[in-house]
Amino acid sequence: MKKYILTLDEGTTSARAIVTDNSGKIISVAQHEFTQIYPSPSLVEHDPTEILSAQYTAAGEAIIKAKIQSDEIAAVGITNQRETTIVWDKNTGEPVYNAIVWQCRRTADYCEQLIKDGYEDYIKQVTGLKIDAYFSATKIKWILDNVKGAREKAESGDLLFGTVDTWLLWKFSNGKIHATDYTNACRTMLFNIHTLEYDEKLLKLFDIPKSMMPAVYPSGHNFGDIEIMNAKMPVTAIAGDQQSALFGQKCFNPGDVKNTYGTGCFLLMNTGTTPGKSNNGLLTTLISTFDGEEPQYALEGSVFVGGAVIQWLRDELKIIKDAAESEKLARKVQSSDGVYIVPAFTGLGAPYWEMKARGAVLGLTRGSGKCHFARAALEAIAYQTDDLIKAMSADSGLEVSSLKADGGASRNGFLMQFQADISAAEVYCPDNAEATAMGAAYIAGLVVGLWKDRDHLPVAGDVKTYTPAMSDYDRLFLKNGWEKAIKAVNLFSKE
Ligand code: ADP
Repeated sequence: MKKYILTLDEGTTSARAIVTDNSGKIISVAQHEFTQIYPSPSLVEHDPTEILSAQYTAAGEAIIKAKIQSDEIAAVGITNQRETTIVWDKNTGEPVYNAIVWQCRRTADYCEQLIKDGYEDYIKQVTGLKIDAYFSATKIKWILDNVKGAREKAESGDLLFGTVDTWLLWKFSNGKIHATDYTNACRTMLFNIHTLEYDEKLLKLFDIPKSMMPAVYPSGHNFGDIEIMNAKMPVTAIAGDQQSALFGQKCFNPGDVKNTYGTGCFLLMNTGTTPGKSNNGLLTTLISTFDGEEPQYALEGSVFVGGAVIQWLRDELKIIKDAAESEKLARKVQSSDGVYIVPAFTGLGAPYWEMKARGAVLGLTRGSGKCHFARAALEAIAYQTDDLIKAMSADSGLEVSSLKADGGASRNGFLMQFQADISAAEVYCPDNAEATAMGAAYIAGLVVGLWKDRDHLPVAGDVKTYTPAMSDYDRLFLKNGWEKAIKAVNLFSKE
């Protein structure tokens, strides 16, 4: 029996390919970066053809590095940056415009207008989302409105839309399969997360012909064969990166929480078959399920600047040479000595949603130095995550007593311990930080019978547990300072 899974992990800055075997072991990894195109500071694009070749090359290299034949691959899983929008001509296979990346703010004014026009409640109720330029709908509309001839072609049924998973699937299947999964579809702001269908009213509002939209299935589904290195292999998993990480961290039960500490932080709580409603600025999102299962949901909160505050210390303040040095500096001092950094560089996300907020450093004394800055920056990542945890608890009524961590900054032991302390929660940090890729690999393997069910998935290496060790007094004292710092930032942004 074939025992290898190939995962295509298509991120915001690079395309990776990972080969795993049926014991869950990673056999090989290959990675290719692609160009970030910034037509202006708030606009971000990718070249869809470059993504394709980066992903194809990475896949080939991963297979070669694994020293296996491509026909030994049992199944392929795809996980991807979500929301990023590609529109192409189905006759020529050529994109009509660059991919408009999730971070791109070009439709922000239009979104503000939609809010003024009173669409907020309807969109939240149907899609689980807040109206924002982040999601695909307004990006598709922008392409149809601004690329010459695009609207006519779309109306005559010649254009297709896809997030990056769909684009890869269509191309690698030689134009045969136009499909996506619930976890990606629910980020388009066009998909009804309750009926699991595109919403006709929203398609009409954004003036998007339904013929452009991909068919939608659960993450675990046989999407059909693609061809890589002259071998046909079935794609049996598609999942957006955050939902894939939730699965990779085995957050299968209501109340299970994972946080990915990357550039930003993404905290997701499984709420089971109940779509959790948020009064605290969290999103409701579909999570990975299999054919025949009821839909399941998560509450999602995002922090815009997570690990990126460490990049700021490195690139702008130049007080560290690399990210890991932040831990060494932070450990040299007993506390941040009252210094707080609020890294609201691009506004404050959940639960504050203060789009115009700017960052601040507060509590400086003559003795404040780079160790305090490093410590305060790491602590800020944990405080922001803790704010999301509080919002999750309030919205779900479930207490968060533990949390599974992954992503680049989860390698920082100081940060993980501080998170445990400040949130009074156990933090589990797997040795294998590839939760995103593992999620898609697990789903793909489950569909082809590599494992019997979720309970029989392999154990992916050791897990380090960080247990809260801070006194209640210290926790309250520190959090009180953070709350004051947030208040100061909000006050400043309003003046
Ligand atoms: P993404 O997927 O968003 O590109 P990654 O999961 O690769 O992010 O994580 C990269 C982020 O993690 C960067 O912002 C970097 O500053 C941060 N990071 C990496 N290693 C450490 C570390 N040891 N301590 C703190 N932050 C780190």
